[in-house]
Amino acid sequence: MTKNSEHTPLMQQYHDIKIDYPDTLLFFQVGDFYELFFEDAKLAASFLAIALTSRGKNKGEPIPLCGVPIHAVDHYVAKLVKGGFKVALCDQLEDPKPGSIVKRGVKQVLTPGTLTDSQLLDERSASYLFSFYPAGDSWGLVFSELLTAQIFITTVPAGSEKLLESELIRFFPDEILISNGSHQFQSYFKKLGYFTTVVHEEQLIQEDAQQWLKKQFPQAACEQVDSDEAMRQALFYFYAYMSKHQRSSLDQFTTLFFYKPDDFLIMDAATQRNLELVKNAQDGTSKNTLLSVMDRARTAMGSRMIKKWILRPLVKKEAIIQRQDVITLCCADIALVNNLEQLLAHIGDVERVVGRIALQRASLIDYSALSRMLLIVPQFKKTIISYKHIFLLRVIVDHLGEFTRLSDLLRAALHDEPSPEMIIKAGFDQKLDEMRALVNNSNEKITELELAEQKATGITSLKIRYNAVQGYYIEVTNANLSAVPERYRRLQTLVGRERFITPELQQLQYGIESARKDIVNHEQTLFESIKKEVASYISVLRKSAHAIAHIDALLSLARLAYDNGYIRPQLNDNRDIVIIKGRHPVVEQALSSTFIPNDTNLTDEQSLWIITGPNMGGKSTYLRQVALMSVMAHIGSFVPAQSANIALLDRIFTRLGASDNVAEGKSTFLVEMEETAMICTQATEKSLVILDEVGRGTSTFDGLAIAQAVVEYIFTTIGARCLFATHYHELTHLPQTYPGIEVYQAASKKMEHGIVFLYTIIRGVADGSFGIEVAKLAHLPEKVIERSSGLVQSFAQAATYVVPAVIDQSDLSAEVRVLKAENKRLLAEQNKAAKVMNLLAEIDFDSLSPKKAFDLLWDMKS
Ligand code: ATP
Repeated sequence: MTKNSEHTPLMQQYHDIKIDYPDTLLFFQVGDFYELFFEDAKLAASFLAIALTSRGKNKGEPIPLCGVPIHAVDHYVAKLVKGGFKVALCDQLEDPKPGSIVKRGVKQVLTPGTLTDSQLLDERSASYLFSFYPAGDSWGLVFSELLTAQIFITTVPAGSEKLLESELIRFFPDEILISNGSHQFQSYFKKLGYFTTVVHEEQLIQEDAQQWLKKQFPQAACEQVDSDEAMRQALFYFYAYMSKHQRSSLDQFTTLFFYKPDDFLIMDAATQRNLELVKNAQDGTSKNTLLSVMDRARTAMGSRMIKKWILRPLVKKEAIIQRQDVITLCCADIALVNNLEQLLAHIGDVERVVGRIALQRASLIDYSALSRMLLIVPQFKKTIISYKHIFLLRVIVDHLGEFTRLSDLLRAALHDEPSPEMIIKAGFDQKLDEMRALVNNSNEKITELELAEQKATGITSLKIRYNAVQGYYIEVTNANLSAVPERYRRLQTLVGRERFITPELQQLQYGIESARKDIVNHEQTLFESIKKEVASYISVLRKSAHAIAHIDALLSLARLAYDNGYIRPQLNDNRDIVIIKGRHPVVEQALSSTFIPNDTNLTDEQSLWIITGPNMGGKSTYLRQVALMSVMAHIGSFVPAQSANIALLDRIFTRLGASDNVAEGKSTFLVEMEETAMICTQATEKSLVILDEVGRGTSTFDGLAIAQAVVEYIFTTIGARCLFATHYHELTHLPQTYPGIEVYQAASKKMEHGIVFLYTIIRGVADGSFGIEVAKLAHLPEKVIERSSGLVQSFAQAATYVVPAVIDQSDLSAEVRVLKAENKRLLAEQNKAAKVMNLLAEIDFDSLSPKKAFDLLWDMKS
């Protein structure tokens, strides 16, 4: 910005800094406050509900201003960043000197994907920053986690949005970076609900990025990155963003984890949602999810690890067996688990503590947490070392570092409850001890002086007091003023008393103050040298923290298995899923002893099950149970069953219930068909496919036709193992044409007073869906029930539909065509309404300015 004579020097400095942070709220330190100006002030004041005032003028107009006290800044910043703003903290870089303007600079930029403060982060979720770059026929994906300095890097074929979505749900990034050249993806990511940031091409200096790559990573990794433009550019845009906002953190990244999405069991976004792995469909929390059942970790880092495992189940048999071996050992020796759990309870979230130390953002509390954790590491090692014959435990022991020296240093140096006034323990440094003694002595000297002055003046009520503004002073009440000697110099007159100073007191005060300053400086010097020592351990500390998180997650699986009587599943390459007395891990927790176990027998002889049964009969529960148990087995966990032999799968697909996606302007039926299409194109014979009521969202004939065609396709063309729940009883004839398709039912009994659900899955066809019985349970009006009973009978008499073995498209009746046209029209209507609803739903009233409200109305009208 050019110099503008209208600006005061302070505002000129503000503008010079702000120009580099156009899309960021600039918190500008002025003394004990952070102040925001112009548009930033308006936005922040309305979002934080704090007062908007003004300061001075710009071109004759008052400059809008709002401010927050420095000591409360964390609270406000947390609110803003969670609300999707970026915040730059611009600090005073030197002590104010009269007559010149204080130097200021941005020390930290906080964005959703680069947070490190424990108050700003969800302790149970990793926080990823995702950089996306499309190049030619592939898309580059880079997921980075600042506090663990991990970078996961991969590519997917261009256009594979579903695969991208499934990776997004696995990592759930807090912020997505895209280059301005590919801004067309911004609205796509936004629609999916992600926070996006555009990084401009000019911000990326390719040579600098290349240098960083070469300096940080091994040659083989550099070559791999260099050979793929999408990968390289995704990584380089991450570099460009970080070098602006978190430059110092770039040195921390030293390993690139190259992976392919199919290194893990693939579950598309819909499947991850449908199975409620980590988030439930109702309120998005982890309540009643697989995570809520499986997470028995004692530390937050252990919980994060479990969550990662659930979202990335393994596909390599050896890796699964390695986890199982640890659980087997632990279940046979629960005392070992108790013992380790007790140690873990004292360890805390070292992974993040170490991350903050590495980034030089650690607080005193972080250092004392580290000190406590280091005390425990040797006990940990000692306990686990006797189990070195178990592969994973050996790996963990090998990763636990040797910290005796560091631990001794921290314990000797750091005060047990450190505070800015007392960082270093007494006895650690002789010089410091002497300095402190001097200050303590001075306190005694003050008392002595007080006594001496009382004696000399004869004023027994004379007091020497201290406050931050005046320092030490002598206070005398009015009644005694006549006895005050001449050498007393008056400082202040108050109601009923006066304050004085004497040369001796002034001398003493000077001595104490400079000693205090010296103490602070010396403590800081000592602390800096301790920090340096800790910094030299960072990489081994990281490894150890990771190892401890790992053992915590493994113990969590063991605890789960032990407490719930889970068993170790066998794994097979024959594609068989054979489960005896399996239970739904989440539902059984709610129902405990009343849950009814069921068997599963998906083999070559019965590779596709069609399951009928009444509404509420337990079909969905059973379907999810089989899927969840398969997921658990791939995580390496034990499963809720009497016995289980589970195929090593490549993918799990589920199409369950009605999932609307009006946000994307899609009808329920369209979403259903998209999910089904995805299954038909992506499933392989090594996949497990779970389908619940496919074809229900349209007319009966269309629905039935599609359902049958899908079953036939999965059975004959794909050959995947499949469970297919349906109310189309017509499909139960399919085994006659296709041996290998088998028909099962959720058993129930029709009694005189209504229906009794048995929740048992048995061979055979249910006699009717009992929809009306369930409607009765829901207390539909008597009249409606009677009328529907009558109608059912007349429909049944009229029905002459026969299932053709192959569906011929040209055979579609006129009625179906009319229904299709009607569907299309409704879809268009729904789309319009959905867009408006969507806009309404996105309104955040806390940040809604009148201008924004007007813009919104305008958008809706247009
Ligand atoms: P709809 O066809 O209406 O979707 P459904 O057949 O899929 O119904 P579910 O939703 O699976 O039925 O089950 C309904 C309820 O029955 C569950 O919420 C659960 O409380 C109970 N239930 C299901 N399975 C069992 C079981 N094995 N043991 C005990 N209770 C069960």
